This record gives sequence, structure tokens and C-alpha cells, in this order.
Amino acid sequence: MNNVFFKITVPSDNDGFITIQCPFCNDRFKLTVEDFKREDIIEIFCPYCGLRDEPSHFYTDEIVEQAQVVARNYTKSLLSQSSKDLEKTFKGKKHISFKAGKPIKMESEKILFEHEELEVTNLDCCQFIVKTRALSKEIGIYCPCCGVR
Ligand SMILES: [Zn+2]
Ligand SMILES: [Zn+2]
Repeated sequence: MNNVFFKITVPSDNDGFITIQCPFCNDRFKLTVEDFKREDIIEIFCPYCGLRDEPSHFYTDEIVEQAQVVARNYTKSLLSQSSKDLEKTFKGKKHISFKAGKPIKMESEKILFEHEELEVTNLDCCQFIVKTRALSKEIGIYCPCCGVR
């Protein structure tokens, strides 16, 4: 079976930042879309707890949920397609009848929106911009790029 890729649109705020979530402490911060997609960054350091992981582990709960809805809808559309195909196969043959049931109800995708209010910090070490909670900015944050505080 071929791999199927789902496209999920993640909204950015007015400054071009997207909200991501640390897989360790679950707190949220923002990076620019460009920085998040940078290929030379194989791991992101959480600015709050300083632990690191690959970028794909930093998706927020909403994004993960959305991905599951999209995947489930895809599975359902495959199921209803195959029962329609069966119906065609059996058509015209005597004594056998196969009727496709009601269309399977699809789950609606949520509308994702950007609502985190965070403070901008410019990190000179890597020329990196991050948005974090104001309090964390005061006590110091880890650079998401090199992990230095
Ligand atoms: Zn963290
Ligand atoms: Zn740095």
C-alpha cells in the first residue's frame, strides 16, 4: 500500500509565527514558520525546560487532533468507496443483491486559529526569534536553536 500524505494547514499569527508545544513540559511557544521549517535544525530546544526533540514532536494537541480527524475521514472514504464497488460487481447477477449502505458520516475538521499571546525575544547566539511567556522572558529562556540560556 502506498503512503498517504495528509495536508493540514497550521495558521500563523500576524507576525508569521506558529504556536508549538513542548513534548516534555507541554508549555507553548512560537517560532517563525521559516525557522520551524529550516532543514539545518534537526532538533528544537524548549525555551522553558531546555530539553530537546525533533520538530515533528512539537506539534500542539490541536494539530495532532486535526491530523487524526483527517486520517479517520480518509479511512471512511475508502470504506464507502469499496462498498460502492462491491455493489457494482454484484449488479445484474441474479439472486445476489448487495446494496451500499448510507454514506458514512465524515467528521468535520476543526478550524484552527491562532490565539496565544506571547512576547518576542531575539536570540543573538543564533539570530533566532522566539515568542514565549512574558514571565519566562524575564527569568531567561533557552535558545531553541543551540540550547544556551
Ligand atoms: Zn519544555
Ligand atoms: Zn542559540
